[in-house]
Amino acid sequence: MHEKCGVVGVALEDRPAARPIYYALYALQHRGQESAGIVTHDGFQQHGHVEMGLVGEAFDEGDIADLAGQVGIGHVRYPTAGSVDSACAQPFSVSFKSGSLGLSHNGNLVNTDVLRSELADLGHAFTSDGDTEVIAHDLARNLLEEDLVEAVETTMGRIHGSYALTIAHDDRVLGVRDPEGNRPLVLGRLEDGYVLASESAAIDTLGGELVRDVRPGEAIVLDPDGTDYTAHQLVERERTGHCFFEWVYFARPDSIIDDRLVYDVRRDLGRALYEESGVESDVVMPVPDSGRAFASGYAEAADEAEFAEGLMKNRYVGRTFIMPTQDEREQAVRLKLNPISNTIDGKDVTIIDDSIVRGTTSTQLVELLRDAGAESVHVRIGAPPIVAPCYLGIDMASREELIAADRSVDEIRETIGADSLAYLSVDAVADAIGFDRDDLCLGCVTGEYPYEIAGEATDRDLDLPDRHVADAD
Ligand code: SF4
Repeated sequence: MHEKCGVVGVALEDRPAARPIYYALYALQHRGQESAGIVTHDGFQQHGHVEMGLVGEAFDEGDIADLAGQVGIGHVRYPTAGSVDSACAQPFSVSFKSGSLGLSHNGNLVNTDVLRSELADLGHAFTSDGDTEVIAHDLARNLLEEDLVEAVETTMGRIHGSYALTIAHDDRVLGVRDPEGNRPLVLGRLEDGYVLASESAAIDTLGGELVRDVRPGEAIVLDPDGTDYTAHQLVERERTGHCFFEWVYFARPDSIIDDRLVYDVRRDLGRALYEESGVESDVVMPVPDSGRAFASGYAEAADEAEFAEGLMKNRYVGRTFIMPTQDEREQAVRLKLNPISNTIDGKDVTIIDDSIVRGTTSTQLVELLRDAGAESVHVRIGAPPIVAPCYLGIDMASREELIAADRSVDEIRETIGADSLAYLSVDAVADAIGFDRDDLCLGCVTGEYPYEIAGEATDRDLDLPDRHVADAD
C-alpha cells in the first residue's frame, strides 16, 4: 500500500527556488520513489527537469543550476500498480496560449474520463492517460478568459476526486486542496519566502515554520517575490473527507497534519488498541518501522509487558511490492526482517503493525516469530480491516487481493497463523485523529466513499460539480 505522490511549491525573495525544492522533495521521498521533478520560472520562461528514480538519482548539480528562477514546484511520484511510465512523471508542464503551466498532483480524480473526452471534443490533444494533464488542459482553457484564481475555481467546479495540487502559472505558484481535503497540503514560512508542501516535515527540512494547513476547497497563491501570500476559499463543503490513512500509515511521524502530530496520533492509536483488545503477553514488539509508534503506545498502556525490538530490518532490501510473484514476495520478507531470538524465545509475543493488506507479510512474520521460539504470537493492528480498494491516489491491492475483503477476523487469524488477532475500531481511529468520523474518508475500511465512484457506495449526500452531473446524465 503506497502513497502515490508528494508535492511542493516555493516562492523566494532573492535566491533560486530549485535547491530548496530539491531538499523538500528529499523530505517527501517516502511519498513516491518512482520519479522526481522540478519546474521553475525565472520571470521570462519556465525550466523543468523530470527523471525516473529517487530524488538523489534524478538530479545532479548541473540540473539544479539550470533550474533558474525564484519560484517553482516539485513532485515525487509512485506509479499506479503496474505502470512505470515516464510520460506520467511530474510536474506536468506545458506552454499554452495563456502562458506556461506546471502542475504537481497528489491524489486521483474520479471523473477524468468525462472531462478528457469533453476536452478532446474541443480539440485538446493528450500525451498521457493521467488525470493531471486533464486538470492542466482544463485550467489552460479557463485561463484564456479568467484570471488565475477564477480559472482555478472554474476547474474546481468541474473536477471531482482527490487532489492536493501545486501549480506554477508563469511566475505565480499556488497550492490547491480539494473540497473534501482528502490529501494533506500545508503552508510554511521561510526566512526569505513561502513554501507549500504535502507534509510539514518538508518545511522543517528547510528550516521554516508551519503556518497552517491549506483548507479543504482553498487556494493559496504565493506572491512571486516571496514576501506574502493570499488565501481564497473557493469551494465550501459541510463535511470533509480526510484520508485517515495519512495519520495511520502514509505521513511521516514527524509531520503535523490538521494540528495533530502524526507520531502522537499513532501512539494514541496504540493505547486505544490496548484498551480495546489488549492481551497478556511477555513482550510487545513493533513491525519495523511502521508499527513502532503504535507499539510504544500499546506497551505504555499495557504496563506489565516489556516493549522490545524483536525484529531487525535490513534497510537495503527493496520493498516487498517490487517483487512480482507471491513466491518472491514471501522470500523478500525473510530478506528484510531478521528476528532477535533472545527477545522472542520462550515468550508470549504481541506484535503490532498498522495494517494488513494481502496478509503475505503477516503470515511470514508469524512464522518467523514461531521459528525464533515464540510460545504464542498475538497480532494487533492499529487500524480497521481493509475491505475495499482506494480510488483516491493510494496504490492498494485490488478487492480480490485484500485478505479482509471476504474473510472474518477469525478467518484472517487462521490464515496468518496467529494465536489471536484484533484490529482497531473505526470509532477509536476517529477519536485518536480528533475528527468526527463523518469528516474522514474511511472508504477502504467501510466500503463507503466521500466521492461518487462507479460501482461503489458513498457515505454522504454528494455535492457534485455541475459538469460531472451534466455529463453523467
Ligand atoms: S479509501 Fe482509504 S486510503 Fe483511500 S483515501 Fe480513503 S481512507 Fe485513504
